[in-house]
Amino acid sequence: MRAPQARRRLTLPRPNWVTGAALLKALRQGDRRALARAITLVESSRPDDRAEAEKVIETLLPETGGAVRIGISGTPGAGKSTFIERFGLDGIALGRRIAVLAVDPASKRGGGAILGDKTRMAELARAPEAFIRPSSAGDSRGGIARRTRDAILLCEAAGFGAVLVETIGVGQAETAVAEIVDMFVLILAPAGGDELQGIKRGVVELADLVLVNKADGELAAAAHRAAADYASAMGLIRPRCSEWQVPVRAISALEGGGIREVWDDVARFRAALEQTGAWSRRRAEQARAALWSEIGDSLLDHFRAAPGVAERLAALETEVAAGTRLPSASARKLLGWFFHQTCVGSAAPPNLPRGRSLTKHSPKE
Ligand code: GDP
Repeated sequence: MRAPQARRRLTLPRPNWVTGAALLKALRQGDRRALARAITLVESSRPDDRAEAEKVIETLLPETGGAVRIGISGTPGAGKSTFIERFGLDGIALGRRIAVLAVDPASKRGGGAILGDKTRMAELARAPEAFIRPSSAGDSRGGIARRTRDAILLCEAAGFGAVLVETIGVGQAETAVAEIVDMFVLILAPAGGDELQGIKRGVVELADLVLVNKADGELAAAAHRAAADYASAMGLIRPRCSEWQVPVRAISALEGGGIREVWDDVARFRAALEQTGAWSRRRAEQARAALWSEIGDSLLDHFRAAPGVAERLAALETEVAAGTRLPSASARKLLGWFFHQTCVGSAAPPNLPRGRSLTKHSPKE
């Protein structure tokens, strides 16, 4: 029943106010339907939608930046959605409007996921001060980051004071999300042992706040013990920024214990970073890194789409994998050929400097 319905919906003409002045006006007034439409536009892979989305966001840019952007990650079952619901409702009680963007790179989720997320956070979803939206999965790390970054800006223009970005799957989404938020929160369950429950050390290093959830009932003692263990483990990790010692807190998302303190942590974190200028420096660095990743992604797209590249690439890849060719020399050869093909009028393939990679542009270069 569902598939034909979805197909029919796709063929419907778009309402006029999807783009243009009416959309901007409604979005600025905090209209959640307009915000949802604008995010759909941002997520579209159609080039004309992309251009329109960029126009909308650029117009709104002066009205963005006001929210605190919080990334929330952790192993499935640790209690992320239970936490977000409780934390969000608490934030609303404190007078905030809360937007939740759920990022799931592992699956291509459609309309069903929207329902899924609303059921996961039913009470929050009913609150007029909340907006919950699963980000339709991007097919690349860059895609996830760009769509979510744009969606955050739209939420800010719509007047949401806190944007929570939840990563659903485990994997590349965590680092992608950590790079687009102000504060990265890791939620863990009170498991025994000193290993971090399958969470990669790299992800722990990104955390600005660690929460050990389920500190209630029979699990309370284990949660407090785990929090103490994690706190000493965190002491061995170099902090992400010198002005902030990462707190480890035992909480109960189910019963609400420790949740208000998390809002205090957010405020303290922001104040500490703002005092030294690290808050805006982090955002500026993120924006600069985003520019370079857009350039890198775009070049790679052109490269992969160029006629003849795929075959040559496949052949060279096989040889590189077999150890009969050098990766660096092969990359240069392929790129030289690509630039020769794409630069009209070029008499000879340009000599690419050694050691340059298309994917690894440093913002400082
Ligand atoms: P997610 O996969 O990380 O989003 O986890 P969920 O929020 O869906 O929670 C997974 C399970 O843990 C559910 O059965 C929740 O009821 C339970 N849970 C979540 N938070 C708590 C908590 O604070 N205490 C207890 N005892 N159970 C919790």
